[in-house]
Amino acid sequence: MTKFSENFSRRKFIVTAGASAVSSILLKGCLGNPPEPGGTADGGAGGAGGAPAATSAVAVANEKRVEGIESTKITLGYIPIVESAPLIIAQEKGFFAKYGMVDVKVAKQANWGSARDNVEIGSAGGGIDGGQWQMPMPYLISKGLITKNKAGIPMYVLLQLNTQGNGIAIAAKHEGKGLGLKLEKSAQDYILGLKKAGTPFKAAYTFPKANQDLWIRYWLAANGINPDVDVELLTVPAAQTVANMKTGSMDGFSTGDPWPLRIVKEKIGFLSALTAEMWKGHPEEYLAIRGDWVDKHPKATEALLAGIIEAQQWCDKPENRAELVSIVSGKNFFDVAPGVLLPPYEGKYIMGDGKPEINDFKMSTLYWNDGVGNVSYPYKSHDLWFLTESVRWGFLPTKTLADSKTIIDKVNRGDLWKAAAKLAGVAEADIPAKSTRGVEKFFDGKEFNPDKPEDYIKSLAIKKA
Ligand code: CA
Repeated sequence: MTKFSENFSRRKFIVTAGASAVSSILLKGCLGNPPEPGGTADGGAGGAGGAPAATSAVAVANEKRVEGIESTKITLGYIPIVESAPLIIAQEKGFFAKYGMVDVKVAKQANWGSARDNVEIGSAGGGIDGGQWQMPMPYLISKGLITKNKAGIPMYVLLQLNTQGNGIAIAAKHEGKGLGLKLEKSAQDYILGLKKAGTPFKAAYTFPKANQDLWIRYWLAANGINPDVDVELLTVPAAQTVANMKTGSMDGFSTGDPWPLRIVKEKIGFLSALTAEMWKGHPEEYLAIRGDWVDKHPKATEALLAGIIEAQQWCDKPENRAELVSIVSGKNFFDVAPGVLLPPYEGKYIMGDGKPEINDFKMSTLYWNDGVGNVSYPYKSHDLWFLTESVRWGFLPTKTLADSKTIIDKVNRGDLWKAAAKLAGVAEADIPAKSTRGVEKFFDGKEFNPDKPEDYIKSLAIKKA
């Protein structure tokens, strides 16, 4: 991250030289700013759409242009939630351009289903080349399990965008029942009782068989509730879920920032658990791109990844979070009030329902350093967890585990990440030596040893497999 001071010292150059081919995006961050990011900065532009706050430390376009780059153009889809911030920041702060990717388009997707449909089309047909995904969506798309006509489109998982920043929201009508991270018997009986009363606990996620579905299933099952038998889980668009929680027809919602604070602030509900409490530094969402695009553009891929890696390092500096919020909350991006984003971005979570508030930066969405491993590097052991959890719930056949090495080696391209990390100047010590993060520990005491995924499934009381 010494690059920033370098960049800053070159700012004079970009202003006087006019930056020739560089778009105004880069320049608007370069003019008339204080030299250092202020820790108390209110973001200047205050979240106005498309006008990111004035700032220092803007990357200089083409400063580290990758030689022989095959294309400067790619379209990446994103969903307006905190997971997408590294893509938006790489674009708005000039990190893509710094490596020569001056024509990157970050395209907002209406929902996960649209992202999948758009990647199937590809950018040539007006869709996207890749972007942000919940797991194991890139695997399911590669295998043709969630695409039209079951046609497989090989995808490469290239980088993890973030960890944490997700949680389980519960409707306000269930306050006072003890619905927290761990459920006492009375709280279990309360949820089970709802089914007996003919009004089963109904909870939503935004796409089936992926992270948010898996998080709420894990939380319920760890607390003795069978998600396939004792409750009703269903796919509902985020906005509709919140509306339904308001009117009382939805009981829970597995979701990420910026939704949780809005739900608590508007007194729609409370948070039973943060994913950061369930599994510290857990795998969350990823960058994956069509394999045919990557194979055709290996150097452009490296440039793209280097830009995102720098953006992730930038996003993880506490002193940059106010500016991060002022950029992503804008109309062109999340289009939310900065006030609902900043507290969680500082690790301040109001849980509601009488639970103590959380105030710990390390509990927030993290993009680079979570104290467990490297957030950005796509560990194969995490891909294996997603496949194992999919087997647990019967989403994928049991034989997936026997074939897992072959399946993962085809999709996970941590090798490309490593090359890009070197290009971005990441210290050798910060580049993981192994493709496994080792044994993972969960809040209920369970462990996932990536060398023995079958043992993990065996250790779980509630499952379908
Ligand atoms: Ca998420």
